[in-house]
Amino acid sequence: MYKNYQAYLKKELSDIKKAGLYKNESVIVTPQRAAIKIDSGKEVLNFCANNYLGLSDNPRLIKAAKKALDTRGYGMSSVRFICGTGDLQKELEKKISEFFGTEDTILYTSCFDANGGVFEPLFGEQDAIISDALNHASIIDGVRLCKAVRYRYANGDMKDLEEQLKKAKKQRYRIIVTDGVFSMDGNVAPVDKIYALAQKYDAMVMVDESHSAGVVGKTGRGTTELYKLRGKVEILTGTLGKSFGGAVGGFTTGKKEIIALLRQRSRPYLFSNSIPPMVAAAGIEMFNMMSRTNKLQDKLHSNTEYFVSKMKAAGFDIKPTQSAICAVMLYDARLSQKMAAKLLQEGIYVVGFYYPVVPKDLARIRVQVSAGHSKAQLDKAIAAFTKIGRELKVLK
Ligand SMILES: *Cc1c(COP(=O)(O)O)cnc(C)c1O
Repeated sequence: MYKNYQAYLKKELSDIKKAGLYKNESVIVTPQRAAIKIDSGKEVLNFCANNYLGLSDNPRLIKAAKKALDTRGYGMSSVRFICGTGDLQKELEKKISEFFGTEDTILYTSCFDANGGVFEPLFGEQDAIISDALNHASIIDGVRLCKAVRYRYANGDMKDLEEQLKKAKKQRYRIIVTDGVFSMDGNVAPVDKIYALAQKYDAMVMVDESHSAGVVGKTGRGTTELYKLRGKVEILTGTLGKSFGGAVGGFTTGKKEIIALLRQRSRPYLFSNSIPPMVAAAGIEMFNMMSRTNKLQDKLHSNTEYFVSKMKAAGFDIKPTQSAICAVMLYDARLSQKMAAKLLQEGIYVVGFYYPVVPKDLARIRVQVSAGHSKAQLDKAIAAFTKIGRELKVLK
Protein backbone atom coordinates (compact mmCIF):
# COMPACT_ATOMS: atom_id res chain seq x y z
CA MET A 1 0.00 0.00 0.00
CA TYR A 2 2.60 2.55 1.06
CA LYS A 3 4.41 2.41 -2.27
CA ASN A 4 1.43 3.78 -4.16
CA TYR A 5 0.65 6.23 -1.42
CA GLN A 6 4.25 7.41 -1.35
CA ALA A 7 4.14 8.16 -5.07
CA TYR A 8 0.98 10.17 -4.46
CA LEU A 9 2.63 12.15 -1.64
CA LYS A 10 5.72 12.82 -3.75
CA LYS A 11 3.58 14.21 -6.52
CA GLU A 12 1.61 16.43 -4.13
CA LEU A 13 4.85 17.79 -2.70
CA SER A 14 6.40 18.42 -6.09
CA ASP A 15 3.21 20.15 -7.26
CA ILE A 16 3.44 22.51 -4.29
CA LYS A 17 7.09 23.21 -5.15
CA LYS A 18 6.33 23.73 -8.84
CA ALA A 19 3.68 26.25 -7.95
CA GLY A 20 6.37 28.13 -5.98
CA LEU A 21 4.31 27.71 -2.83
CA TYR A 22 6.46 25.39 -0.75
CA LYS A 23 6.87 26.56 2.84
CA ASN A 24 10.38 26.37 4.23
CA GLU A 25 11.16 26.79 7.90
CA SER A 26 14.12 28.89 8.85
CA VAL A 27 15.78 27.81 12.05
CA ILE A 28 16.41 30.36 14.79
CA VAL A 29 19.43 29.73 17.02
CA THR A 30 18.94 32.58 19.50
CA PRO A 31 16.05 33.44 21.82
CA GLN A 32 13.00 34.85 20.08
CA ARG A 33 13.36 38.64 19.99
CA ALA A 34 13.72 41.65 17.70
CA ALA A 35 17.26 40.79 16.55
CA ILE A 36 17.77 37.06 16.00
CA LYS A 37 20.30 34.77 14.37
CA ILE A 38 19.21 32.05 11.95
CA ASP A 39 21.11 28.84 11.34
CA SER A 40 22.88 30.20 8.26
CA GLY A 41 24.65 32.41 10.82
CA LYS A 42 22.90 35.48 9.50
CA GLU A 43 21.70 38.14 11.95
CA VAL A 44 18.28 39.43 11.02
CA LEU A 45 15.60 41.69 12.44
CA ASN A 46 12.46 39.75 13.17
CA PHE A 47 9.21 41.22 11.89
CA CYS A 48 7.13 38.06 11.75
CA ALA A 49 6.73 36.95 15.35
CA ASN A 50 3.58 37.35 17.41
CA ASN A 51 5.89 38.77 20.06
CA TYR A 52 3.89 42.02 20.17
CA LEU A 53 5.06 43.18 23.58
CA GLY A 54 8.59 41.84 23.17
CA LEU A 55 8.15 39.54 26.17
CA SER A 56 9.46 36.27 24.65
CA ASP A 57 12.90 36.78 26.19
CA ASN A 58 11.87 39.01 29.09
CA PRO A 59 14.25 38.50 32.06
CA ARG A 60 11.47 38.80 34.65
CA LEU A 61 9.44 36.05 33.00
CA ILE A 62 12.52 33.85 32.67
CA LYS A 63 13.31 34.37 36.34
CA ALA A 64 9.74 33.54 37.39
CA ALA A 65 9.81 30.40 35.21
CA LYS A 66 13.15 29.29 36.69
CA LYS A 67 11.90 29.79 40.21
CA ALA A 68 8.85 27.64 39.48
CA LEU A 69 11.10 24.94 38.02
CA ASP A 70 12.91 24.83 41.36
CA THR A 71 9.82 24.99 43.57
CA ARG A 72 7.19 23.13 41.51
CA GLY A 73 9.22 20.90 39.21
CA TYR A 74 9.00 20.44 35.47
CA GLY A 75 5.62 19.01 34.51
CA MET A 76 2.23 18.10 35.95
CA SER A 77 1.89 14.65 34.31
CA SER A 78 -1.86 14.88 34.54
CA VAL A 79 -4.98 16.44 33.17
CA ARG A 80 -6.42 19.12 35.42
CA PHE A 81 -9.29 17.16 36.97
CA ILE A 82 -7.19 14.18 38.08
CA CYS A 83 -4.07 15.71 39.62
CA GLY A 84 -2.92 18.41 37.18
CA THR A 85 -4.20 21.41 39.11
CA GLY A 86 -1.54 23.33 41.02
CA ASP A 87 -1.77 26.58 42.89
CA LEU A 88 0.03 28.35 40.02
CA GLN A 89 -2.50 27.24 37.39
CA LYS A 90 -5.33 28.44 39.64
CA GLU A 91 -3.61 31.76 40.27
CA LEU A 92 -2.99 32.31 36.56
CA GLU A 93 -6.69 31.72 35.86
CA LYS A 94 -7.52 34.41 38.39
CA LYS A 95 -5.03 36.84 36.83
CA ILE A 96 -6.56 36.30 33.39
CA SER A 97 -10.06 37.01 34.75
CA GLU A 98 -8.79 40.22 36.37
CA PHE A 99 -7.05 41.32 33.18
CA PHE A 100 -10.18 40.93 31.05
CA GLY A 101 -12.70 41.90 33.73
CA THR A 102 -14.44 38.53 33.46
CA GLU A 103 -15.93 36.18 36.06
CA ASP A 104 -13.86 33.04 35.62
CA THR A 105 -11.22 31.44 33.37
CA ILE A 106 -10.29 27.94 32.23
CA LEU A 107 -6.78 27.19 30.93
CA TYR A 108 -5.90 24.97 27.98
CA THR A 109 -2.57 23.99 26.51
CA SER A 110 -3.31 26.27 23.53
CA CYS A 111 -5.95 28.58 22.17
CA PHE A 112 -6.40 26.05 19.40
CA ASP A 113 -7.63 23.71 22.13
CA ALA A 114 -9.69 26.43 23.83
CA ASN A 115 -11.55 27.05 20.56
CA GLY A 116 -11.70 23.34 19.78
CA GLY A 117 -13.31 22.66 23.14
CA VAL A 118 -15.70 25.57 23.58
CA PHE A 119 -18.63 24.90 21.24
CA GLU A 120 -19.44 21.22 21.54
CA PRO A 121 -20.13 21.24 25.30
CA LEU A 122 -22.19 24.44 25.19
CA PHE A 123 -24.33 24.22 22.06
CA GLY A 124 -26.45 21.48 20.54
CA GLU A 125 -28.47 20.89 17.41
CA GLN A 126 -31.20 23.30 18.52
CA ASP A 127 -28.71 26.17 18.70
CA ALA A 128 -27.01 28.47 16.20
CA ILE A 129 -23.41 29.58 15.77
CA ILE A 130 -22.98 32.64 13.60
CA SER A 131 -19.36 32.91 12.55
CA ASP A 132 -17.28 35.53 10.72
CA ALA A 133 -16.01 34.11 7.41
CA LEU A 134 -12.40 34.95 8.28
CA ASN A 135 -12.34 33.38 11.72
CA HIS A 136 -9.25 31.42 12.74
CA ALA A 137 -8.91 27.77 11.69
CA SER A 138 -9.33 26.64 15.31
CA ILE A 139 -12.77 28.30 15.52
CA ILE A 140 -13.77 26.66 12.26
CA ASP A 141 -12.61 23.27 13.56
CA GLY A 142 -14.32 23.84 16.92
CA VAL A 143 -17.60 24.67 15.21
CA ARG A 144 -17.27 21.53 13.07
CA LEU A 145 -17.12 19.40 16.21
CA CYS A 146 -20.45 20.76 17.41
CA LYS A 147 -23.96 19.92 16.23
CA ALA A 148 -25.31 23.47 16.26
CA VAL A 149 -26.67 24.98 13.04
CA ARG A 150 -23.96 27.08 11.35
CA TYR A 151 -24.34 30.48 9.81
CA ARG A 152 -21.53 32.48 8.26
CA TYR A 153 -21.27 36.20 7.57
CA ALA A 154 -18.79 38.07 5.38
CA ASN A 155 -15.81 39.50 7.29
CA GLY A 156 -16.94 42.35 9.53
CA ASP A 157 -20.10 42.81 7.43
CA MET A 158 -22.85 43.90 9.83
CA LYS A 159 -25.61 43.83 7.19
CA ASP A 160 -24.79 40.23 6.44
CA LEU A 161 -24.57 39.42 10.16
CA GLU A 162 -28.05 40.87 10.66
CA GLU A 163 -29.39 38.73 7.81
CA GLN A 164 -27.90 35.63 9.41
CA LEU A 165 -29.31 36.59 12.82
CA LYS A 166 -32.77 36.83 11.29
CA LYS A 167 -32.38 33.34 9.84
CA ALA A 168 -31.08 32.04 13.17
CA LYS A 169 -34.17 33.26 15.03
CA LYS A 170 -35.67 29.81 14.77
CA GLN A 171 -32.90 28.26 16.87
CA ARG A 172 -32.99 28.06 20.68
CA TYR A 173 -29.75 29.87 21.63
CA ARG A 174 -27.54 31.94 19.34
CA ILE A 175 -23.91 32.97 19.61
CA ILE A 176 -21.98 35.26 17.30
CA VAL A 177 -18.29 34.32 17.05
CA THR A 178 -15.48 36.52 15.83
CA ASP A 179 -11.72 36.98 15.96
CA GLY A 180 -10.87 40.23 17.78
CA VAL A 181 -8.17 41.07 15.26
CA PHE A 182 -8.04 39.26 11.93
CA SER A 183 -4.50 38.07 11.57
CA MET A 184 -4.03 38.49 7.83
CA ASP A 185 -5.36 42.07 7.49
CA GLY A 186 -4.91 43.44 11.00
CA ASN A 187 -8.45 44.85 11.15
CA VAL A 188 -10.36 44.83 14.43
CA ALA A 189 -13.80 43.21 14.47
CA PRO A 190 -16.58 45.77 15.07
CA VAL A 191 -17.42 44.18 18.41
CA ASP A 192 -19.51 47.22 19.46
CA LYS A 193 -21.85 46.74 16.50
CA ILE A 194 -21.78 42.97 16.91
CA TYR A 195 -22.78 43.37 20.54
CA ALA A 196 -25.61 45.75 19.64
CA LEU A 197 -26.95 43.29 17.07
CA ALA A 198 -26.66 40.51 19.62
CA GLN A 199 -28.86 42.56 21.98
CA LYS A 200 -31.37 43.22 19.23
CA TYR A 201 -31.63 39.59 18.11
CA ASP A 202 -31.23 37.95 21.51
CA ALA A 203 -27.83 36.39 20.90
CA MET A 204 -24.57 35.98 22.82
CA VAL A 205 -21.07 36.98 21.69
CA MET A 206 -17.70 35.25 21.68
CA VAL A 207 -14.47 37.04 20.76
CA ASP A 208 -11.12 35.30 20.19
CA GLU A 209 -8.62 37.84 21.54
CA SER A 210 -5.48 36.01 20.39
CA HIS A 211 -4.13 38.87 18.25
CA SER A 212 -5.92 41.65 20.16
CA ALA A 213 -5.03 40.91 23.78
CA GLY A 214 -2.07 42.99 24.89
CA VAL A 215 -2.39 45.04 21.70
CA VAL A 216 -5.83 46.59 21.24
CA GLY A 217 -7.26 49.18 23.63
CA LYS A 218 -5.32 51.86 25.47
CA THR A 219 -4.01 49.42 28.07
CA GLY A 220 -4.05 46.34 25.80
CA ARG A 221 -7.07 44.72 27.45
CA GLY A 222 -8.38 43.82 24.02
CA THR A 223 -11.55 44.55 22.10
CA THR A 224 -13.76 44.81 25.19
CA GLU A 225 -11.59 47.70 26.38
CA LEU A 226 -11.59 49.36 22.95
CA TYR A 227 -15.39 49.22 22.71
CA LYS A 228 -16.16 49.71 26.43
CA LEU A 229 -17.71 46.27 26.76
CA ARG A 230 -15.66 44.94 29.66
CA GLY A 231 -17.48 42.14 31.42
CA LYS A 232 -20.31 42.15 28.89
CA VAL A 233 -19.17 39.73 26.19
CA GLU A 234 -20.13 36.22 27.33
CA ILE A 235 -17.04 34.35 26.08
CA LEU A 236 -13.48 35.43 25.31
CA THR A 237 -10.75 33.07 24.21
CA GLY A 238 -7.06 33.83 23.89
CA THR A 239 -3.51 32.56 23.84
CA LEU A 240 -0.45 32.86 26.04
CA GLY A 241 1.56 32.21 22.88
CA LYS A 242 1.48 35.71 21.40
CA SER A 243 1.60 39.01 23.36
CA PHE A 244 1.61 37.23 26.70
CA GLY A 245 5.14 35.85 26.61
CA GLY A 246 4.89 33.56 23.62
CA ALA A 247 5.38 30.17 25.32
CA VAL A 248 2.26 27.97 25.23
CA GLY A 249 -1.19 28.00 26.69
CA GLY A 250 -4.67 29.18 25.90
CA PHE A 251 -7.75 30.11 27.82
CA THR A 252 -11.47 30.67 27.75
CA THR A 253 -12.71 33.42 30.05
CA GLY A 254 -16.17 34.83 30.64
CA LYS A 255 -19.42 34.06 32.45
CA LYS A 256 -18.82 31.75 35.40
CA GLU A 257 -21.49 29.18 34.55
CA ILE A 258 -20.04 28.79 31.06
CA ILE A 259 -16.55 28.21 32.48
CA ALA A 260 -17.96 25.80 35.07
CA LEU A 261 -19.63 23.68 32.39
CA LEU A 262 -16.46 23.69 30.28
CA ARG A 263 -14.54 22.25 33.25
CA GLN A 264 -17.05 19.39 33.25
CA ARG A 265 -17.36 18.72 29.54
CA SER A 266 -14.70 20.38 27.38
CA ARG A 267 -12.75 17.57 25.79
CA PRO A 268 -9.32 19.22 25.29
CA TYR A 269 -9.48 20.19 28.98
CA LEU A 270 -10.56 16.78 30.20
CA PHE A 271 -8.27 14.70 28.00
CA SER A 272 -5.11 16.76 27.57
CA ASN A 273 -2.31 17.65 29.95
CA SER A 274 -2.14 20.66 32.26
CA ILE A 275 0.22 23.52 31.32
CA PRO A 276 3.58 23.27 33.11
CA PRO A 277 4.08 25.21 36.39
CA MET A 278 6.89 27.34 34.91
CA VAL A 279 4.58 28.59 32.16
CA ALA A 280 1.89 29.41 34.72
CA ALA A 281 4.44 31.21 36.93
CA ALA A 282 5.78 33.32 34.05
CA GLY A 283 2.19 34.13 33.07
CA ILE A 284 1.40 35.32 36.59
CA GLU A 285 4.51 37.52 36.59
CA MET A 286 3.51 38.91 33.18
CA PHE A 287 0.00 39.88 34.34
CA ASN A 288 1.47 41.41 37.51
CA MET A 289 3.77 43.53 35.32
CA MET A 290 0.84 44.64 33.19
CA SER A 291 -1.23 45.63 36.16
CA ARG A 292 1.60 47.96 37.25
CA THR A 293 2.58 49.62 33.99
CA ASN A 294 1.36 50.34 30.51
CA LYS A 295 4.81 51.03 29.09
CA LEU A 296 4.96 48.15 26.63
CA GLN A 297 1.51 48.79 25.21
CA ASP A 298 2.36 52.48 24.75
CA LYS A 299 5.60 51.59 22.98
CA LEU A 300 3.82 49.09 20.75
CA HIS A 301 1.19 51.65 19.76
CA SER A 302 3.76 54.33 18.93
CA ASN A 303 5.96 51.83 17.04
CA THR A 304 3.02 50.65 14.96
CA GLU A 305 1.87 54.17 14.11
CA TYR A 306 5.40 55.11 13.11
CA PHE A 307 5.95 52.05 10.93
CA VAL A 308 2.61 52.21 9.12
CA SER A 309 2.83 55.93 8.42
CA LYS A 310 6.39 55.65 7.05
CA MET A 311 5.49 52.67 4.86
CA LYS A 312 2.49 54.49 3.44
CA ALA A 313 4.62 57.57 2.81
CA ALA A 314 7.09 55.34 0.93
CA GLY A 315 4.23 54.40 -1.38
CA PHE A 316 3.31 50.92 -0.20
CA ASP A 317 -0.24 49.66 -0.37
CA ILE A 318 -1.04 48.93 3.28
CA LYS A 319 -4.31 47.43 4.47
CA PRO A 320 -6.09 49.62 7.00
CA THR A 321 -5.00 48.30 10.39
CA GLN A 322 -5.95 48.92 14.02
CA SER A 323 -3.53 46.37 15.43
CA ALA A 324 0.19 45.60 15.32
CA ILE A 325 -0.28 43.76 12.02
CA CYS A 326 0.66 45.60 8.88
CA ALA A 327 -0.24 43.87 5.61
CA VAL A 328 1.91 45.09 2.71
CA MET A 329 -0.24 44.19 -0.29
CA LEU A 330 1.53 42.66 -3.32
CA TYR A 331 -1.37 40.60 -4.75
CA ASP A 332 0.91 38.14 -6.61
CA ALA A 333 1.91 34.97 -4.70
CA ARG A 334 5.33 34.55 -6.34
CA LEU A 335 6.15 38.21 -5.88
CA SER A 336 5.36 37.90 -2.18
CA GLN A 337 7.82 35.00 -1.88
CA LYS A 338 10.50 36.73 -3.92
CA MET A 339 10.21 39.96 -1.99
CA ALA A 340 10.37 38.17 1.38
CA ALA A 341 13.50 36.28 0.23
CA LYS A 342 15.19 39.51 -0.87
CA LEU A 343 14.26 41.23 2.36
CA LEU A 344 15.86 38.36 4.27
CA GLN A 345 19.10 39.01 2.36
CA GLU A 346 18.80 42.60 3.57
CA GLY A 347 18.51 41.35 7.12
CA ILE A 348 14.73 41.74 7.48
CA TYR A 349 12.84 38.60 8.36
CA VAL A 350 9.24 38.72 7.11
CA VAL A 351 6.92 36.16 5.54
CA GLY A 352 4.84 36.40 2.38
CA PHE A 353 1.35 34.91 2.57
CA TYR A 354 -0.68 33.65 -0.37
CA TYR A 355 -3.61 31.41 -1.20
CA PRO A 356 -5.02 29.45 0.61
CA VAL A 357 -3.92 31.36 3.72
CA VAL A 358 -5.30 34.55 2.16
CA PRO A 359 -7.76 34.82 -0.77
CA LYS A 360 -6.45 34.19 -4.32
CA ASP A 361 -4.61 37.19 -5.82
CA LEU A 362 -4.39 38.96 -2.47
CA ALA A 363 -0.85 37.86 -1.59
CA ARG A 364 1.00 40.07 0.83
CA ILE A 365 3.87 40.41 3.23
CA ARG A 366 2.63 40.59 6.78
CA VAL A 367 4.75 42.74 9.06
CA GLN A 368 4.25 42.36 12.79
CA VAL A 369 5.46 45.28 14.83
CA SER A 370 6.63 44.76 18.41
CA ALA A 371 7.29 46.87 21.48
CA GLY A 372 10.66 45.11 21.34
CA HIS A 373 11.68 46.96 18.14
CA SER A 374 13.82 50.06 18.52
CA LYS A 375 13.29 53.06 16.26
CA ALA A 376 16.58 52.27 14.48
CA GLN A 377 15.33 48.74 13.79
CA LEU A 378 12.05 50.06 12.38
CA ASP A 379 13.98 52.50 10.19
CA LYS A 380 16.18 49.70 8.89
CA ALA A 381 13.13 47.67 7.94
CA ILE A 382 11.48 50.63 6.20
CA ALA A 383 14.70 51.34 4.24
CA ALA A 384 15.00 47.69 3.17
CA PHE A 385 11.36 47.53 2.09
CA THR A 386 11.85 50.70 0.05
CA LYS A 387 15.03 49.40 -1.63
CA ILE A 388 13.57 46.00 -2.53
CA GLY A 389 10.20 47.54 -3.38
CA ARG A 390 11.92 49.67 -6.03
CA GLU A 391 14.03 46.76 -7.28
CA LEU A 392 10.94 44.60 -7.80
CA LYS A 393 8.94 47.52 -9.19
CA VAL A 394 6.40 47.37 -6.39
CA LEU A 395 7.26 51.03 -5.88
CA LYS A 396 7.71 53.48 -8.71
C1 LIG B 1 -2.82 32.09 17.16
C2 LIG B 1 -4.27 31.96 17.23
C3 LIG B 1 -4.87 30.84 17.82
C4 LIG B 1 -4.05 29.68 18.28
O1 LIG B 1 -3.38 29.97 19.46
P1 LIG B 1 -2.38 28.86 20.05
O2 LIG B 1 -2.35 29.15 21.49
O3 LIG B 1 -1.08 29.05 19.36
O4 LIG B 1 -2.98 27.53 19.74
C5 LIG B 1 -6.24 30.82 17.93
N1 LIG B 1 -7.01 31.82 17.46
C6 LIG B 1 -6.48 32.91 16.87
C7 LIG B 1 -7.36 33.99 16.37
C8 LIG B 1 -5.09 32.99 16.72
O5 LIG B 1 -4.57 34.05 16.11
